[in-house]
Formats: sequence, C-alpha cells, structure tokens
Amino acid sequence: FMLLTKKLIEVRNVLNSIDHNNTLKLPSIVVIGSQSSGKSSVLEAIVGHEFLPKGSNMVTRRPIELTLIHTPHSKEEYGEFPALGLGKVHDFKRIQETLKDLNMAVPESECVSSKPIELRIYSPNIPDLTLIDLPGYIQITSKNQPRTLKEKITELCEKYIQEPNIILAVCAADVDLANSEALRSSRKVDPLGLRTIGVITKMDLVEPDRGVAILKNQDYPLHLGYIGVVCKAPTTPTKDNMTQAVIKTEETFFRSAYQFSQRGVAVGTGTLRRKLMDVLEENMGSNLGSIIKAVQKELDETRYQFKVEYNDQKMSAESYVAESVDKLKHRFKDFSRAFGKPQVRLEIRHMLEQRMLDICAQRYWSDPRIGELSQLDSAPEEDRLYWDLQLDLASSALTKSGVGRQTTQRVVDILSRTMEQLAEAEPFNHHPEAANTIKSMTHEILSSRSQATADQVENTIKPYKYEVECTDGEWAEGVKRASALLQAELEMCEDALAKIKTTVGTKKLRKAINYVIEADREESRRAQRREEASMQRETRSLQQLQEEKVEEDEEEEKRGTVAESSESEEAQANGGVLSAEEEDELEAAMRPHYNPKLLIKAREALSLRDRSLILKYRLAALKSKTCKNAKNKTQCPEAFLAVVSEKLAYTSVMFIQVELMNEFVFQLPRLIDSRLGVKTGQEAMEKFARENPAVGRHLQLMDRRTKLEEVWEKLNYLVRRQEEAKARKW
Ligand code: GDP
Repeated sequence: FMLLTKKLIEVRNVLNSIDHNNTLKLPSIVVIGSQSSGKSSVLEAIVGHEFLPKGSNMVTRRPIELTLIHTPHSKEEYGEFPALGLGKVHDFKRIQETLKDLNMAVPESECVSSKPIELRIYSPNIPDLTLIDLPGYIQITSKNQPRTLKEKITELCEKYIQEPNIILAVCAADVDLANSEALRSSRKVDPLGLRTIGVITKMDLVEPDRGVAILKNQDYPLHLGYIGVVCKAPTTPTKDNMTQAVIKTEETFFRSAYQFSQRGVAVGTGTLRRKLMDVLEENMGSNLGSIIKAVQKELDETRYQFKVEYNDQKMSAESYVAESVDKLKHRFKDFSRAFGKPQVRLEIRHMLEQRMLDICAQRYWSDPRIGELSQLDSAPEEDRLYWDLQLDLASSALTKSGVGRQTTQRVVDILSRTMEQLAEAEPFNHHPEAANTIKSMTHEILSSRSQATADQVENTIKPYKYEVECTDGEWAEGVKRASALLQAELEMCEDALAKIKTTVGTKKLRKAINYVIEADREESRRAQRREEASMQRETRSLQQLQEEKVEEDEEEEKRGTVAESSESEEAQANGGVLSAEEEDELEAAMRPHYNPKLLIKAREALSLRDRSLILKYRLAALKSKTCKNAKNKTQCPEAFLAVVSEKLAYTSVMFIQVELMNEFVFQLPRLIDSRLGVKTGQEAMEKFARENPAVGRHLQLMDRRTKLEEVWEKLNYLVRRQEEAKARKW
C-alpha cells in the first residue's frame, strides 16, 4: 500500500539531483495561500511538529521543498538538510531556526528567492509526501519591501503550480473566498480544479452553518473538493504536546456541531492527510507512463553523449585520484633515477669549485706578489714560508666554509624545486590544495633530515680541515681540473671583455682606459702628497706639544691662537700654493668630460684585462714541470685546491646520498599515498576529482547515466507491479 508514492518519491529525489532543466517531473503538492491564512499551521499539523519559522515579517522567502518519509520500523523522528550536510537533526526547534536562517539569508532587497530549500523529514508518524511551501501572497507591500515583491511572489507561485503538481489552496474561513489569491491563481492553471484541493482553515471562526456552506462551495467548485480544518492551539493548557493538542482541539470542535457530520462534508487534518496521500498516489500513477518516456529519452541522450564524448570510457573519482598519484610518483621516480649519485656529485663539485675559484681570486690572483710563485725554488726562506701559509689558509677557507650545511642545502634546494615543478604541472595545476600538500610534504621530509645530514657531512670532512694527502693520480686529476677551470674562467673574462669592446667601440674604450689609467696615476700621486703633508703636520704638532709643555702655565685661549696660526703656517709651508683639497677640486674641473657609465665600463675592461693576464700566467704555471709534482703544491695552489674540492665533494655526496636522498626517495611515495591517494576517503576524492573541470564533466555525465539507469530500473519495476495488480483485479 502506498508503495508507489514511496518509490516515486525516491525516484523524484534522484531525478531532482541530476535534472537541472526540470524536464523530468514527478508530481508534488504545492501549498499556496495568502499570508496568515494558516498555511504554516496546516503543514505543521500534517507533519505533527512545529518546525516552520513564524513571524510577521515575511518569514518564508524561499520555497521549502519538504519530503516526508514514512519510516514504519523506526521510532526516530528527525529532519535532514541534504544541501547543508548537518546530518540528522532531531530537535525540531533547530530545524525551525535553520529554516529561519536560510530564509533570512535572502537579502531584504530581493525579499524572495526562487532557490528552494530542501528538507527531508523522517518519522513513523507521517505519510510519504512531497510538499512545497511557498511564500504567502501579500495584499499590500509594506514600506521597506520592494514594490515588485507582490509580482515576484505571484511569479514564483505560478512556476510551481504548473502540471503535474497538485495544488493545495489554503483559504481562511473568515475571509471571503472571492478574495482568495490562492484560488484565483489555481484557477488560472487548473480551471476545473482537477488537481486543486481547497483547504479552509480557521473553521472555528465562523458559524458551523456558514462553515459547511463554504465547504460545499458552489461558487468555486473544485473537482477534488474542500476540506475544513482547525489548526489552533487550545486556549487552556494541556499535558499533551503542541500538535497533539491542536488535533484534539480540532476533533472536539468538529464533534461539537452536527452539521460537520453530513455526507459530502470533509473536515479534519486526518482527512486532509489521507486525501493528500490518495491524490498524490493517483497522480503519480497516472504520470508514470509519461515520466518513463521522459526518463528513457534522457537516458538515451546521456548514453549517446557518453559514447561520443568519452567513448564509453568509465571514470570515477577514485580512478582519477589513483591515476594522478601514480603520475606524480612516476615522475618523481624518473627524476630520482636521473638525479642519482653522479648528478648529485656533479652539483656539489660544481659548487665547491666555484668556491675554490673565489678563494684563488681573493688570496692569489689579486696578490701583487703572485709573480714570486714561479721562482719559489730560488727564493729566500721567508718568501717560501709566506706562500706555504697562503696555501694553508686557502685550504682552510675551503674546508671550513660550512661545507656540510651548504652542500646539503644545495641538494635540498634541487629536491624542493623539482617537487615544486611536479606540483605545478598537469594534473596538479588543477588542484591547488593538493599541490600545496606536495610542497609541504617535501618540506617536511627535507627539514626533518637536513640538519642531521649537514652535521654528518661536516663530521666526515673534519679530517680534511687538518690535512689533505693526495696520491699522484689524484694530483694529476687535480691539475687537469684546475686547468680546465682556469681555462673556462679565462674564456669568460675574454668574452666579457669582447662584449664591452663591441658595445663601447674599441677606440673609444681605449681612450677611456688610458684616461682611467692616467687618472689613477694622478690619484696615487696626490695621495702620496697628502700623506706627506699630513706627516709634516704631525711633526709640527708634535713640536707644538713640546712647546706647550714648556708654556704649561699659560692660559687656554692662547692655545687657540696657536692652533690658528699653525694653519696659516701650514699654508706658508706649502709655499703659498693651493692646499691638497683645493688642488683636487681644480683637477676635477679641468678633467675632460667622460660619461660616468663609460668610465665604469673602462674600469671593468681594465680589471678583466688584468684578470686575463693573471689567468694566462697561472695556466702556464699549471702546465709547467713544477706542477707535475704533488710535492710542489705551494707553487700550484689551484691544483691543490681542486684536489681538496674533489675530496670534499666525494665525501659529502656519500653521506648526503645515504642520509637525505635515500630517505627522501623512500618516504615521499608513502606520504603521497597517505595524503593524496585513495586512502583520503570518498568525499576527499570526489572533491579532488571535481576540481579538474574536464574530469568533473566526465564524472557528472557518468553520474547522470548511472542515476538514470537506476531510476529506469525502479520505474519499470513499478510498472510491472501495477500491471500485475491490474491483472489480479480482472
Ligand atoms: P501563514 O502565514 O499562512 O503561514 O499562517 P499561520 O499558520 O502562521 O497562521 C496565522 C495565524 O492564524 C496564527 O496566529 C495562527 O495561530 C492562526 N491560526 C491558524 N490556524 C487557525 C485556526 O484554525 N483557527 C484559529 N482561530 N486561528 C488559526
């Protein structure tokens, strides 16, 4: 009994979730009525609970799609807002508040919204029904409501009272039916009242005879008829709950007057409920055929689309997640294969060699005594010691430069950058949150390992801080690498110089360089003069001090005059010519005008030229017989530092590989699985998949097809049952 309605309500909810153009419609009961006609009271009487928002200020601003689900085997009564994901709400006061909040969320300026609120109520005490509560018709618009509000409400109601819906037109007994907005609207779409039920509320407010006359209405006949109700709480307090009390009051009222027991007069909420169930069931039944046709058509179209667009390829959030994670892991694997020990060593070696070049440049190539290195054999002991010390200092500068931290950081940077790139590439470019997770996982592993790794590396290279021994083979390698490095450096210098030449022009550059050289010479001459002058001044003030000592008893002001006169004395000491500062100023004024940028370029060119010369000289030294022998490391610092760099690189990499790389390669895929993979749960996967628009569309179409197939199955089952029932009747 009533199975059809129940099943079709299920079908209706499924269809609602996929059908956005409202082509697949199963009938529902739409409740319309003027404000204060008692609409809410009637709905609450049907449900048996107070749950609708009350108040004079337009409390229903959105349609409420109410699905009542009869649960005969459970005592539990609760509501659910599918769109909000609040779960079961057992407290009907909370339902009321939630509805109020949802309604009030519609801004005052709009007043009504056509976006429905979905609410399901489960209870053993309610019939299976779908009811839609609409904003009440208003007569006059109040001051702060938009003028168009009245039309807006009418429009909204009009949309809902279309076929195949059943209309519940609520009118108060104490208001002339001729003025009923609800009846007027329903007559427009259903003139014979074939799908309109009239509900006359507040029957207690009119004399029974008058009430009965309304119910037997001759002026506005409805095929489905009128039902009179009283939905008023009793004036005297009772032990019952509200709604029970309301029903009792109603029963007492209708029993109190004989007129209501006449044939053809329908009264009471109970009667109304049964009527609604019957009408809905019948309507659903008669709509079955057309809805099946519509579903069939939709299903065919969806299947076709699915075939054309996706070649029938199945897609699920889970498979997409698995695929994305696999892609990431694969790419990472490719990277870790390509970035093995040799590549790490290359990186580290490169870094240390750059450091070594810096040290050479600082400690050797800019030392004016560098020329001594090639004649060190015949040099005095003192010079030899000087250069031995230089080598020790250079070697320390390399080994004690925080190799552990810096080599580790280098690898950490490379890993971070790589993971960042993977996180920003397809498909994770569609998933900013997941991309962040990838980055933070990377960071997590690396930062948990990097300190220990740096310490380990620093520890293992410790011996090199005191002594570096090398075999002949290692030395030969060192000479080769140092030569290559210097050669590269030389080429860079020459390239840079050539570039300056082409941008500035050879002639112009030469002139500017000559000028700079001359200016520098002049500057040093002046500096010398200044020094001499200040030396003279010092000697003189020394003399003065001695004189002062002699005149110790003299007053202080006198000392001031001495100082003054000493200045004029100085001017005289210069033979009456200009002071050093004045001379500088004059010089600057007489200088030919060169563009400061050009001068900068000239200086740059000059230093590049000097650097090239030194590099050529050092390259020749490295190729000389002296540098063939490891014993002569003092004369060949570049080769020795290259040997040290290589040893540092080799040792560092060994530990970075074990402590950092291997750990990272081991941990990362596991973290990826646990934080991004299928273990994150269905909801997270759905969310993830839908972030990718293409996948989202695919999933949506899949979902549509699955749901339509499910609905199709259900509908066919119902049709078969109906036919069986018919056959039995015959
Ligand atoms: P709505 O605006 O159409 O939802 O109307 P309500 O259900 O809020 O009812 C408006 C007012 O009429 C409220 O004060 C109710 O208590 C009162 N009311 C509703 N039904 C009845 C009834 O059957 N008899 C009487 N006397 N008052 C009723």
